[in-house]
Amino acid sequence: MRNVPASEDFIRPHLRKLAAYTPIEPFEVLSKRLGRDATDIVKLDANENPYGPPPEVLEALGSMPFPNIYPDPETRRLRAALADLNNVPMENLLVGCGADELIDLLMRCCLDPGDSIVDCPPTFTMYAFDAAVNGAEVITIPRLDGFRIDVPAISHAVEQQRPKMVFLTSPNNPDGSVIAEEDLLAILKLPVLVVLDEAYIEFSEDPSRLRWVVDRPNLVIFRTFSKSAGLAGLRVGYGAFPASLIEYLWRAKQPYNVSVAAETAACAALTNTDYLQRVRDALVSERQILIKGLQQISFLQPYPSQANFVLCKVVDGQDAKAVKDTLATEHAIMVRHYAKKELSGYIRISVGRPEDTQKLLAALRGICRPGGSNGVSTTLEKE
Ligand SMILES: *Cc1c(COP(=O)(O)O)cnc(C)c1O
Repeated sequence: MRNVPASEDFIRPHLRKLAAYTPIEPFEVLSKRLGRDATDIVKLDANENPYGPPPEVLEALGSMPFPNIYPDPETRRLRAALADLNNVPMENLLVGCGADELIDLLMRCCLDPGDSIVDCPPTFTMYAFDAAVNGAEVITIPRLDGFRIDVPAISHAVEQQRPKMVFLTSPNNPDGSVIAEEDLLAILKLPVLVVLDEAYIEFSEDPSRLRWVVDRPNLVIFRTFSKSAGLAGLRVGYGAFPASLIEYLWRAKQPYNVSVAAETAACAALTNTDYLQRVRDALVSERQILIKGLQQISFLQPYPSQANFVLCKVVDGQDAKAVKDTLATEHAIMVRHYAKKELSGYIRISVGRPEDTQKLLAALRGICRPGGSNGVSTTLEKE
């Protein structure tokens, strides 16, 4: 018998080096692991919307006329609604199975193996992940104090190393800061494709810059229904692209990437903009209540945020991973902790409903420093 190679040998070499992705677990899995009812779990680890979508969504899903027929490969109904809402021509819009799909699709269309992208951590980790999957190099330009992007370093890297794309995120995940307009304008002057990820823009004071793509040849903008529209489980995101670029994305995308359910749900959500606005307003005001409460926990230093989450530095001798684990195992409260070295001393907490904030703050007050105080700071002011 001839030698058959190990199955791993069939895998492309650059993928064999890929680090395994740490997934966030859904309610059903968490419920089993924690031995708790799903309804007892306070899920503040993935920036999901606790209020869910408007009631029109479930109604529409319950009466889909043709689930047996393949979806519209051009998602015309949803793109028309989005074009109307955002005052952008439908021709510049493409819908994906989450914004995540579009990040990968854009990279597959733009990057040859050996090409590079600029990534500005700490930020959304999918840019570096998808670049690795696509065999591209990642030029890492860390953010400065206050999570501001390092414009001179990015400009220098673009001149010297000729990356194809720069990924910017506003508000940025995990800290919730927005990009300064002068920084964005400076990066747009460079000979590089600028990808601006606006997954959380609804929660910020900045308006979306979606329309900017109409007269800029090097700008792409991503938006999603996962966060403010409460449809993370149905996977719908969209992008605005320059007309000359979008043509190639249409050629390369999977024809039926957006399911009938996903398009139906997204269209139904857009019929109730009052609901979306009310939920957005509730989360934005809850964010301030959460930040105030977190400032009173002696071992946490929350950062200001314009998104539906708050990044906290864990100080005062407490260990961030231990705080996360205690909240999960003793209180069924899930928050995000990062294995990555730069962020290992931080936790990120999604904004929930008022009762979620109350449960979280009560649990945090109960976490004591070994031999220390009860975890409640005596001063309200903390920088
Ligand atoms: C959540 C998130 C997305 C992904 O959105 P999906 O539409 O759910 O794929 C994209 N970018 C950032 C920064 C995010 O945090």
